[in-house]
Amino acid sequence: MNDRFPDATPEELNTSDATCIMCRKEMTTAKKIICGHLFHVHCLRSWLERQHTCPTCRALVVQLENGTTAVGGQQGSQSYAHQHAELKFQDIINSPSLDAASRKIDNLAEKKELDSTLVLMITKAWSAAKDSNMAKDEVRNFG
Ligand SMILES: [Zn+2]
Ligand SMILES: [Zn+2]
Repeated sequence: MNDRFPDATPEELNTSDATCIMCRKEMTTAKKIICGHLFHVHCLRSWLERQHTCPTCRALVVQLENGTTAVGGQQGSQSYAHQHAELKFQDIINSPSLDAASRKIDNLAEKKELDSTLVLMITKAWSAAKDSNMAKDEVRNFG
């Protein structure tokens, strides 16, 4: 948890409204999540046990287990856009059904948030899923 999100800098605490939205108390130290919002580390922890979205803006707070944590490292604008695509992608991929995923994609398209990076990710994932389904069918036919 402590490594997953970077500490907010004193500047960030000064420039933003340094009140934690969860407990309404002032923050002297805080953690910054991927969308840039700040929270007390203990408030954030208890929230993330139940939710995976930012309590302020509903951005998905992604938790990549493969070590490529979306926060930290390069903070350039390009990687930031990529992180956002990644968040939306994870949200779509984690849909309970293909219908739900399609609805989410339609939604993003309507809001003009379906950018090329995201489309590429989805296309790749879907062709991979199709391949693995076909492979399963083949196995079944052999059985
Ligand atoms: Zn708090
Ligand atoms: Zn947020």
